[in-house]
Amino acid sequence: MKRERNTNQKEMIKAEVQLHQGHLTGDQIYALVKEKMPGIGRATVFRNLKDLTEKGEIGYIPTVDGAGFFDYRKHNHYHFKCTKCNRLFDTNVPYNDSLDKVDSRFKIQNHVTLFYGICPECEKMKNN
Ligand SMILES: [Zn+2]
Ligand SMILES: [Zn+2]
Repeated sequence: MKRERNTNQKEMIKAEVQLHQGHLTGDQIYALVKEKMPGIGRATVFRNLKDLTEKGEIGYIPTVDGAGFFDYRKHNHYHFKCTKCNRLFDTNVPYNDSLDKVDSRFKIQNHVTLFYGICPECEKMKNN
């Protein structure tokens, strides 16, 4: 019984990440999941997110200036973080596979690049 409940929680959390098709922090996901499963604890949500990330079922983008973001897209791609609204966006910058081969001492699996700046919406607001 317990196993089934845990699986359902995990599936629900994963579904929530995929449903939004964006980039959400753990606390944002927790707030969304809590609406559907009021009894669920924050630690449970974070534990499941960590588990899903480790299994490669969802992506995770760490940031240096705050909470990391979970991503429904698993393939390697670069992100942009708006310093005004703190949202994370996918960029059109192509992922550079060749960088992973530059230092042959390491078996590099992937790399993370995060761009910072002002998103179009915040830029528009600034001009109004
Ligand atoms: Zn913004
Ligand atoms: Zn992304």
